[in-house]
Amino acid sequence: MATVQQEAGRGGRYGDFDKQWIAGQWRSGRGTGRLIDRNPYNGDVLVELAHADQRDLDEAHGAAASVQKEWSARLPSERSAVMQKAARVMEARHGEIVAWLIAEAGSTRLKAELEWAAVHAVMLEAAFVPYRIEGRILPSDVTGKECRVYRQPVGVVGVISPWNWPLQLSNRSVAPALAAGNGVVLKPASDTPVTGGLLLAKIFDEAGLPPGLLNVVVGSGSEIGDAFVCHPASRVISFTGSTPVGRGIARLAADAPIMKRVDLELGGNSPFVVLDDADLEQAVDAALFGKFLHQGQICMITNRFIVDRKLYEPFVEAFTERVRGLKHGDPSDADTMIGPIVNEKQLKGLRERIDEARSSGARQTIGGDPEGLVLPPHVFADVTNDMLIAREEIFGPVAPIIPAANEDEALSLANGTSFGLSSSVFGGDVERATRFALRMEAGMAHVNDQPVNDLANNPFGGDKNSGIGRFGGDWAVDAFTTDKWLTVQHEPRKYPASADVLKGPWASG
Ligand code: NAD
Repeated sequence: MATVQQEAGRGGRYGDFDKQWIAGQWRSGRGTGRLIDRNPYNGDVLVELAHADQRDLDEAHGAAASVQKEWSARLPSERSAVMQKAARVMEARHGEIVAWLIAEAGSTRLKAELEWAAVHAVMLEAAFVPYRIEGRILPSDVTGKECRVYRQPVGVVGVISPWNWPLQLSNRSVAPALAAGNGVVLKPASDTPVTGGLLLAKIFDEAGLPPGLLNVVVGSGSEIGDAFVCHPASRVISFTGSTPVGRGIARLAADAPIMKRVDLELGGNSPFVVLDDADLEQAVDAALFGKFLHQGQICMITNRFIVDRKLYEPFVEAFTERVRGLKHGDPSDADTMIGPIVNEKQLKGLRERIDEARSSGARQTIGGDPEGLVLPPHVFADVTNDMLIAREEIFGPVAPIIPAANEDEALSLANGTSFGLSSSVFGGDVERATRFALRMEAGMAHVNDQPVNDLANNPFGGDKNSGIGRFGGDWAVDAFTTDKWLTVQHEPRKYPASADVLKGPWASG
């Protein structure tokens, strides 16, 4: 596997990843703990750095709040220009960014390239955000009063991101929040301090973002998480991660000394439904990508295949056969579909799910022992919705297949989960499949495609225990700005002195 250094190409390689990016300076965290960042495929130590502590958090938030005032007053074209430049920096450093995504996040080359493209698209989308922020003039029932609504940046946004698509899931909040005129403090996950944060800081710094506006603090969620969420300087917490942690953050934000809004993008349990009139080949083809991309470590990934009895055995057979041909191993090889699981803890959780599926009577059609952190693909047929692999998020290359007697049962199985992130349905009659998709309880549903879709300008987000809020396009503008209602009285107002004179609303005087 080529090293990050070899991949970096001409133009120099970013350095200083053993430091934090706080108040416009690369410097060591002042916490006592240290983070050792390893390549999950070969165990190499990539970076070692000292954790941030409360003093670092205060400094980061203070800088973001102070620089934000000048930044939000800049012309839209100036803020847009930084986003456009960031996209160009990404193009110039494509090899280096992709190499980091492979080395640190265990991304296959396919996934790393897709992630690079998604981040690049969001950068370009964010370049339009400064022009999308609109106020309004509302009608007033008071004579001589002008009623205005200003749309303003919230001030400082706290972003907390997970390790699985680290650059994209940090940037989809960071870029629009900055473009809308905010300061940002970002806390990446401990498995991906570089690709989830420090690399993004380098890209924006090189693109000309004012120093101090974006800060990256690296530390363990359990140590600095509460202080980060409750910090009085931030007005919005944009969180992507697991449902239990998200719930805790929502509670904390409500109880913080100064309350704040939370946007939560949480876990999933996406159903992939195959109706009796589906094109089997098309469904199986989509099933491979929609289950095994990034070895299944995606919030939207297919968690359960639900297949009509009429196509059930042919689907199990054809899918298993295609899975047999998937290459697992070195993530840097262009044709590897299944690379390493991110860490030992995640692998242990997967092994528990596999053991439970076997002991519960599921029929394993393919599998294999882990090689290091690489778990070969597993397929289980005859799964029921109450088995662990169907009930809970798997986050690994394990595919449960559940038979459904008919369309009604398929819908009830699909909706038989507390999650509601993404979903998909395959059917020959597109209108019938569309009606089915409309009844699936999920924020996102895809007809004749698998559940993993993430487009820069679309309303990405979940229902039920998969989250609150939407990312992307105008929805990102809503997330990182706030309405201010302002009235201007242009002529002396007459206030009612007696109930007798009230005609319309009391304010009409
Ligand atoms: P996680 O919830 O364990 O961690 C996410 C982030 O929260 C990390 O940065 C972590 O350090 C931080 N954190 C942990 N405890 C905290 C606390 N008490 N206070 C503040 N921050 C804290 O999730 P993960 O294991 O990194 O990621 C996998 C999960 O994320 C899966 O459930 C997956 O479905 C979900 N996810 C959701 C989406 C989405 O868009 N809906 C996208 C990707 C991943």
